[in-house]
Amino acid sequence: MNGHKLDTILDFHARLAEKAAETTDLHKLVESLISETVEYMNASSGSIMVYDRQTESLKLYVSSQHPALKGQKNGMITEIPVKEGIAGKVFASGVPMVVESTRQTDIKAKLRRKDDSGSFLSIPLKINQKLIGVMNINRPGTQPGFTHDDLNRLRSVDTMIASLIEKESLLVVLEENRREIAGLYEMASILTEANDFTGRLAEFLKKLSGQLGLERLAILHIAKNPGTPGAIEQDINFTILAAHNLKPSLLQQMFRSVSSHMQIQLSQVSDLYASEREAHRPPTLSFEEKDGSSRELFCIPLLVEGQPSHMLLVSRRYVDEDARQASKHYRFLYLVSHNLSMAIERENMIRQISEEQDLLYKSNQRNVFFLEISKDLTSTLDPYIILQKAFSNFNNVIGFSTIAILLFDDIDNNYRLIVQPDEPVSIRYQKKLSEQIFNLFSDFPSDPPLSKENFCKPVFFKPQKHYGIPAADYKHTLHLPVVIGDKVRGLIHLTRSTNIPFSNDDLDSTSQFTGIFITSIKNALIHKRTEKLAFTDQLTELFNHRYFQETLNHEFTRAKRYAKPLSLMFIDIDFFKKFNDTYGHLVGDKVLRHVAAVFKSSVREQIDTVARYGGEEFAVVLPETSLEGASRFAERIRAAVEASHIIDDNRELSVTLSIGVACTTVTNCEKPADLIEASDIALYRAKETGRNRVKTYKESTLKNAK
Ligand code: GH3
Ligand code: MG
Ligand code: MG
Repeated sequence: MNGHKLDTILDFHARLAEKAAETTDLHKLVESLISETVEYMNASSGSIMVYDRQTESLKLYVSSQHPALKGQKNGMITEIPVKEGIAGKVFASGVPMVVESTRQTDIKAKLRRKDDSGSFLSIPLKINQKLIGVMNINRPGTQPGFTHDDLNRLRSVDTMIASLIEKESLLVVLEENRREIAGLYEMASILTEANDFTGRLAEFLKKLSGQLGLERLAILHIAKNPGTPGAIEQDINFTILAAHNLKPSLLQQMFRSVSSHMQIQLSQVSDLYASEREAHRPPTLSFEEKDGSSRELFCIPLLVEGQPSHMLLVSRRYVDEDARQASKHYRFLYLVSHNLSMAIERENMIRQISEEQDLLYKSNQRNVFFLEISKDLTSTLDPYIILQKAFSNFNNVIGFSTIAILLFDDIDNNYRLIVQPDEPVSIRYQKKLSEQIFNLFSDFPSDPPLSKENFCKPVFFKPQKHYGIPAADYKHTLHLPVVIGDKVRGLIHLTRSTNIPFSNDDLDSTSQFTGIFITSIKNALIHKRTEKLAFTDQLTELFNHRYFQETLNHEFTRAKRYAKPLSLMFIDIDFFKKFNDTYGHLVGDKVLRHVAAVFKSSVREQIDTVARYGGEEFAVVLPETSLEGASRFAERIRAAVEASHIIDDNRELSVTLSIGVACTTVTNCEKPADLIEASDIALYRAKETGRNRVKTYKESTLKNAK
């Protein structure tokens, strides 16, 4: 090769490099490569065929003067199957070919240049033995034909041309891949945003629709009905996670049109799913729109936790696009469906975690409450306080409208019903509740069995007067047996007036609560009983003086705090000394017991306190009772005792009473002793004015007495 030739080659290389640098467009690059080569080779026209791996064909690019162009502007005409024509043969064999005159060849007919009698040179374009295409150069019949020198001349630049084309093609592929990755990234990032998942899915579908020109899209959760085993037709139900441009009714139709396809997919999950994911194009189903026009429909299973539990359903209008573009779209759809699967999987996981957290938090919260309840229960032996605290704390745990506990009392061999303190409980409701619990529990295999005989009426701890309030209507109840040792010894009964049913969780809590509560309340009740024994007068079984003092002090403070009246009654048997002297001390004692029984049956149980003040004197503490009320009450007692008799030695004996009544609202009582003094004065007045009568204390009486 001489210097001139080398110069020309170098020159040519330089020009090609320059052209390559000028454009990033493969078409333009190939075009300029052709025109430069045509000029360099002193030819009239030329073409380059670039091998496309995706379509397995040769893409034909021709020079502007190429006869095949026939006035078309675009440099790329068509795709040619690999083995067709001279160029196809060259590509297939990898061996260059020189045709002196196209007339002389037997493959002339395939050259589409029927009139051209010129010569033709075709060489493979190779990089490191890898064929990337074919280059063809033409000369018209008027010019001398190509020689082997020309072939060598062209071969000195073919690698350069090949590498420029390959580089550019790679750049195009890279750019396409980059765009695909960016698209996928964008789609994936929608799914990982922080806002709500359903919103994200909707946005995702909208974006996907724009990206791939899809018309309608939906993400569905698929649930197979557990049909008869072996049955071919299995019902498939779906729920909509998100949809784009798709109303549920239309979605239903669309779903129906793919359901048989789904059946197959669901029955052959693993292999079908795997193979379809690999495929360039999923099987197309068709769907008819309302206007009768049909659509392409794709249903892509989404594997969530290894199961095709979800599905991406898309439709689009039939579009004309080259096969390569279409397969790229489907590839994108599949890649994106993978993202979708992962997002759903993650969302499920997050939901599960948050549910577990909630559960943990709830159970922790519950334990805190129970700890509080336990502390409260051990901090006191007052059953009233225990009930109040336990019930209100427990209410914080599960929330109820009323609570009642039926409990067997070993000391007096009775079942007792305890209901919540300080709650509005009407008489009607109390009755209804007792009946209900009795009916509910008497069928229970309890030990001992609940019967009318051992069922006490409800114990209402310090109930307030709520007689006017109707029974609370409730919608739900929960009851649970109270097991002590291995014996069923009671029942816990809860009601709810809100329309929230009790859950299994509530049942667990109740059971836990009962465990803690029962021992404490039993201890407290026993303690109270022992305490009561210490406060009981042996002869009359009434409260003793000490208990009277404590109760009076307690009630006095309460009355002051709540500005409620508190009345006190002093009762003294008339001429009792004489009675004793006449009938003897033992008969006197009998009379004391007799009047005590009359008192006890006359007062309000759990509200009034009757005590033996000393000797033949008694005191009755009447909380929330006015002077008038107490006075009427005293009169009733007086009359009852006067009318009653005790039989001794076939004699009918009777005594009379003098009663003095005072009330906190009628006098300026600063301390309990003031009320005692007032009652005592009133009693003195009753004695003074003839006995067997009731006298009330008025301010004037006190002044006179003083
Ligand atoms: P009045 O109250 O009407 O003025 O006359 P009285 O006779 O009841 O007066 P007083 O209070 O002086 O008498 C109280 C009597 O009650 C003295 C005592 O014999 C009798 N007594 C006190 N405690 C007992 C008791 O436990 N058993 C019996 N049998 N009698 C008692
Ligand atoms: Mg006396
Ligand atoms: Mg007396």
